[in-house]
Amino acid sequence: MMKRVYNFAAGPAALPEPVLKKLQEDIFNYKGSGMGVMEISHRSKEFDQIAEESESRLRKILDISDEYYTLFLNDGASKQFSVAPLNLKRGKASADYIQTGHWSQRAMDEAKNILNVRIAASTKDVNYTRVPTQQEISVDPGAAYLYYTANETIGGLEYPYTPDSAGLPIVSDMSSNFLSKPIDIKKHGLIFASAQKNFGPSSFCIAIIRKDLTGHAPAGTPKLDDYAVQAKEGSRFNTPNTLAWYTADLVFEWIREQGGLEAINERNRAKSQMLYDYIDKSTLYANPIQKSSRSRMNVPFTLKTQNKELDKTFVEEAKNAGLTNLEGHRSIGGMRASIYNAMPIEGVKALVEFMKQFEEKHHT
Ligand code: PMP
Repeated sequence: MMKRVYNFAAGPAALPEPVLKKLQEDIFNYKGSGMGVMEISHRSKEFDQIAEESESRLRKILDISDEYYTLFLNDGASKQFSVAPLNLKRGKASADYIQTGHWSQRAMDEAKNILNVRIAASTKDVNYTRVPTQQEISVDPGAAYLYYTANETIGGLEYPYTPDSAGLPIVSDMSSNFLSKPIDIKKHGLIFASAQKNFGPSSFCIAIIRKDLTGHAPAGTPKLDDYAVQAKEGSRFNTPNTLAWYTADLVFEWIREQGGLEAINERNRAKSQMLYDYIDKSTLYANPIQKSSRSRMNVPFTLKTQNKELDKTFVEEAKNAGLTNLEGHRSIGGMRASIYNAMPIEGVKALVEFMKQFEEKHHT
């Protein structure tokens, strides 16, 4: 069998190897049933158990109280950019958004079709090189909610704190840092996250929503997009992506085995620290983000030579060394190392070692 590589993709991204191995077995024959896990009905006893188990595992890992529903939804987080405002508008005219780069902008663009989008803070003027401080966030008390993107996957920005909203429900897109550290759920009205970074395949998503915020979707809202309907139907109003859901369940169990989110957080801190420390002291590489706003999940970097050909050489040689998917997002170029939960510390060590050797050959 071919050897696996260290995969630095931003998403779909690497999954933990024990999860993939277990899936291999279960895709063929789930618990001795003679059927693969994606061949069983979403209404079967077997799947009832997966649904119950995954929800209780997620609630334990994140310490989610009964005040919240946990929904397992089809489609990625982009769908929630419009589903969230639709459900949370509750008769208000506007919502407050914090503008920090590509993904917050995407969310704002979709929300504009449903309500007025007011910018509560923006770091556009500093080229999105940091998230705003709490003092810079000005909340409109009449807004439906305050929205922030917990981790900007392309820019490489992450909040080191949970924004305060002076009582408004807080909505957060946590797609690229969900389950990478403990979260203060109680501060949030709604958290949603795509699966394909930290807990499963693409086109699947989790939403954690405070119960009192559901049940207000306007007449005409498609049933699948109404959080109250999804909650009532146990996220099985229609046929969910059963394979993605089961994968998520296996990842939750893997997180527990790793020692939970505190342990995962510490590992993520050590991994990202190692990479940033090296970048900061090198003569060849640069990361533009202010230190306190740097993402522990997505580390974009450029070559100080500003030579696009050399970028290509870097990516190619890295690939030959078993370090794949290091090219930056097509919108900004350069390089990006995504180091989600499933990236072992050895992978980051191997990357730093490769970067050192490359620097020796191409130093400025
Ligand atoms: N939000 C963030 C922060 C993301 O990184 C992504 C995907 N890269 C999305 C939303 C969109 O997710 P999807 O493609 O699953 O709709």
